[in-house]
Amino acid sequence: MGIIQRAYKTELDLNDRQITACKKHAGAARWAYNWGLARKEEAYRRPSTSPSAIDLHRELNALKQSDVPWMYEVSKCAPQEALRNLDSAFAQFFRRAELKQQGKLRGKVGYPQPKTRKHGLGSFRLTGTIVVFPEAIQLPRLGRLRLKERGYLPTSARILSATVSEQAGHWYVSVLVEQEHLISPNSGPTVGVDLGVKTLATLSDGTTEPNPRHLKSCLRKIKRFQQAVSRKQKGSGNRRKAVRRLANLHRKVANQRANTLHQLTSRLAKTKSVVVIEDLHVAGMLKNHHLAQAIGDVGFGAFRRQLTYKAAWYGCQVIVASRWEPSSKTCSGCRWVDEDLSLADRVFRCEQCGQVLDRDLNAALNLEKLAGSSSDSHNACGEGSAGQRSHERW
Ligand SMILES: [Zn+2]
Repeated sequence: MGIIQRAYKTELDLNDRQITACKKHAGAARWAYNWGLARKEEAYRRPSTSPSAIDLHRELNALKQSDVPWMYEVSKCAPQEALRNLDSAFAQFFRRAELKQQGKLRGKVGYPQPKTRKHGLGSFRLTGTIVVFPEAIQLPRLGRLRLKERGYLPTSARILSATVSEQAGHWYVSVLVEQEHLISPNSGPTVGVDLGVKTLATLSDGTTEPNPRHLKSCLRKIKRFQQAVSRKQKGSGNRRKAVRRLANLHRKVANQRANTLHQLTSRLAKTKSVVVIEDLHVAGMLKNHHLAQAIGDVGFGAFRRQLTYKAAWYGCQVIVASRWEPSSKTCSGCRWVDEDLSLADRVFRCEQCGQVLDRDLNAALNLEKLAGSSSDSHNACGEGSAGQRSHERW
């Protein structure tokens, strides 16, 4: 067991008064950062040492009374943490400058730049008393803020800080917590998971995870929006509007997809001791015209990546079957192989033992068996990478 730091980010559900308060905090953080940057530059020009975040914070407190009385309306953390960020920005700049001098760095050194509102309202970080409830988070000065997703933030972990940020009109909170790293294996069952096009995932215990239905209607809409964009005249205001509408829809689809995958991979990693998945050669399959869209949709690559890192958190082992494993063409009952099985066949019929079952379930059962055929598969280890192995054909 070790202690790890982890960040959880989720969307806030704010009322107008809270949005105003958050904007003020973000504004104060931005102001403090830019003011600190100017003060440091002033100091560099004169032969004195550069003021630290603590020096600047003291100076800013004196300024509050005379020059920036509105700073009193926000938590003192917001400017204070912004000045800390400025310190780290300079530390990183000096580190990179040194590397550059030694010829060990390609690319820009990155001198700290003032924060502008061009890229949104920005963010601010708070420390101190932060309390997480299943449906809300309580922050210093801002009070209780509602969360859009219930129960996502951990309520029992030690909270180090909370960062509130804005993106395209949406407000998010990212909570940094200290947690014990779970490395004791979980005691759930072994399961084979067949990823598919019609059904997102079929588990060898007989349960299925349907493809999110809203995706399909959104995809039809995307096609329509795309056509709308191409019909509009280049450079026109209408075209800009159409482009923005299309971009919003793309973001929505991406979010839905990410949510579905995260829910599925979390559930698997938390409740199963061993998960066997197929190493679908996604790149190769994407060349197949008919499959391309559907596979791109469910994000198989993302599925495997998420499952691997979450498995490491929850003490679950991931086994990746080699892509030459004939999992869908082999009978899970007697291992008879149906060489003629095509993608159109949704049902597997065994001519040897007579077993008839859903094609995906048959594949999932074969994958589950793969775990049993390896001697050490039940010694679940916390390491996602070590837990990943390929199998020889059996
Ligand atoms: Zn059979």
